[in-house]
Amino acid sequence: LGYTKTSKIGQIRDDNMSDKLIKIAYLYEDLMNTYGDSGDVKILRFLLKREGYDTQVDNISLGDDFNAEDYDFVFFGGGQDFEQTVVAKDLTRHKETLEKYIGEGNPMLCICGGYQLMGSYYKTNSGVTIKGLDILPLHTVFKADKRMIGDTRYMTEWGEVKAFENHSGQTYFDNTDKLHPLGDMIEGYGNNPQDKKEGVRYRNFIGSYSHGPLLKNVNVANAIMEMIIARHDQRVGKKEVNE
Ligand code: GLN
Repeated sequence: LGYTKTSKIGQIRDDNMSDKLIKIAYLYEDLMNTYGDSGDVKILRFLLKREGYDTQVDNISLGDDFNAEDYDFVFFGGGQDFEQTVVAKDLTRHKETLEKYIGEGNPMLCICGGYQLMGSYYKTNSGVTIKGLDILPLHTVFKADKRMIGDTRYMTEWGEVKAFENHSGQTYFDNTDKLHPLGDMIEGYGNNPQDKKEGVRYRNFIGSYSHGPLLKNVNVANAIMEMIIARHDQRVGKKEVNE
């Protein structure tokens, strides 16, 4: 029974052979965790436990090796501009594996700063342009006098979501055929002050400005949990039995 470097928010065991062990990669948990985004992972672990799955959470941080193919779910939380500049440089090492993982339709959730870094760039309020991974056709810019802070409410395909946002970056899609918003705003800003849309959905990739954490909204948490279990079944080669 080998132990690996695991997340601060807990590990159960490293047992690749178990078909009831869900493996979660938490990208830069130590640097990107504003407003309690680690709560999203805690909620998923709780729900998965209730379904009979153990979870292993690996904190993938600066300099760590990472192969997304080994995981059932990848999480990337929010962060401040300084942390984003540090993380963005290291993150480039993982572009290929994440691009493949996302392109194959595997589940990933990115919040706020993490969401911004999956696009082509984030131009901050100090004029610095942080290069993103450029996996999703979207970009983020700062515009004067508009920090978007407060409660949000929006409608998704899984029903209404209530959350909290706090960001200066305004996100715009560069390819609206490929990307779909996660929701339609009822209250608050979401991606930017003009579009009245929140977050992004591309296959099973979800990006969102929602803290709170987002997955206190059990409708979204359950939907993501189902994606994770489906990915896990496929990864461990289990055949679905239809009754
Ligand atoms: N630093 C980014 C911004 O202000 C993201 C903030 C966050 O992750 N809460 O837009």
